[in-house]
Amino acid sequence: LKPKPAAPQGPQKVPGVDRILAIASGKGGVGKSTVSANLACALAAEGRRVGLLDADVYGPSQPRMLGVSGRPASPDGKIILPLRNHGVTMMSMGLMTNDDQAVVWRGPMLMGALQQMMTQVQWGALDVLIVDLPPGTGDVQMTLAQKSQVDGAIIVSTPQDIALLDARKGIDMFQQLNVPILGMIENMSTHICSNCGHEEHVFGHGGVAAEADKLNVPLLAEIPLDLQIRMAADGGAPIVTSQPDSAQAKAFHAIAQTL
Ligand code: ADP
Repeated sequence: LKPKPAAPQGPQKVPGVDRILAIASGKGGVGKSTVSANLACALAAEGRRVGLLDADVYGPSQPRMLGVSGRPASPDGKIILPLRNHGVTMMSMGLMTNDDQAVVWRGPMLMGALQQMMTQVQWGALDVLIVDLPPGTGDVQMTLAQKSQVDGAIIVSTPQDIALLDARKGIDMFQQLNVPILGMIENMSTHICSNCGHEEHVFGHGGVAAEADKLNVPLLAEIPLDLQIRMAADGGAPIVTSQPDSAQAKAFHAIAQTL
């Protein structure tokens, strides 16, 4: 009898993918997908080969944010061909379900779908694969960290206590899973009225900086609550591509350059 080769243990690398970066948040609606889309576009504009995996199965928003639609082709029924726009290779759980179909998958199905996205999608050679995670600390996050070698996580939060409380849990989870925390981003940090220039802290300000300091992780950026950022994301061309010279685009480039 020949001894069987040992089954691979622990987190695996995705073939052809140099680094996997997870973008996470404790709560939904804090701008995690907006940040993911803009960072992916910023990295692509800087000449890096970028993939974006939208793993937010409950509220997939990357097809809309990156302006792609249609079902990805699978010529042999196994390999799935990703879509591409703004220089970003993209795959979303949202492209595998109908737009108005609610996803009521149980944990094992979610984990299976994520694994399929990692291993059956023809990502090609990538410098960075960004994974836009669902909010919280559930099955998808655990599966990603346990099955794939995640090189770092970025936590997006608004400055509100309630969002920060959940963000803290996310950081704790990644630390337990041995995923390095690259830093935190305060989104919707401040609002400057496009009419009169008055600055208001709609969700408070500085909460993420204080938290990052307490947890000893870098604060990567404070992104304002800004109409242009919202309109660009909703219009399928993130602000980094639609207004590349804007201050908002530069803020995302500054983060991308640290990655
Ligand atoms: P999440 O992925 O955390 O659920 P999204 O990125 O989908 O959050 O953002 C939720 C909504 O807020 C979207 O409509 C998005 O366009 C908007 N949004 C996110 N960040 C900003 C921002 N900095 N300024 C204005 N609108 C934003």
